[in-house]
Amino acid sequence: MNRRQLTAFIGAGSNIGNKARNLQEALDMLAKLPQTSVVQASGVYHSEPLGLNDQEWFYNAVIEMHTALSPDALLSSCQKIETDMGRPAEHAKWGPRIIDLDVLLYDDLTCCLEHLTIPHPELPNRKFALLPMLDLANPVHPVLGKTMKELLETCPDRSAIERCNHLFLKIP
Ligand code: ADP
Ligand code: MG
Repeated sequence: MNRRQLTAFIGAGSNIGNKARNLQEALDMLAKLPQTSVVQASGVYHSEPLGLNDQEWFYNAVIEMHTALSPDALLSSCQKIETDMGRPAEHAKWGPRIIDLDVLLYDDLTCCLEHLTIPHPELPNRKFALLPMLDLANPVHPVLGKTMKELLETCPDRSAIERCNHLFLKIP
């Protein structure tokens, strides 16, 4: 049976190797997932690492997709892409990573399981997720009842972030 396609936003980040290429590779792999299409991608943002400072700055972007995959299947697919791209199973929390894919929003669904929380619990606290999301849309956070723009206004994140106007992700 075909499930209805819903809109999901994926936050992507990389701070190892060719970071822009890593983001593009992750987008290409997301676009190949079954019952899924990538609708649009945000600009690429250069952001100061949070938590552990002794590491390279990140490139971050947000990808909007339509998918009939369940939230669980979408998370597993993101984790498989991370592994296939060479991310080790264990790495330091907040530490450097070749690719990080987080399910930021999945339609207006809320879910609070041990392995999966939607919306992503850190979304209101991270400029590197809110700013690129606003390139694409201004959805209402289904738990907080505020738009992404409103969340950005009260976001406590004081780290540096800049848009890389020379970098673009391509939708395959
Ligand atoms: P982080 O992204 O916080 O640096 P990880 O990528 O290592 O850390 O993710 C840690 C755990 O977060 C994963 O094992 C995953 O099960 C869990 N998780 C919970 N909710 C989400 C979500 N919405 N998107 C991605 N991972 C999530
Ligand atoms: Mg993650």
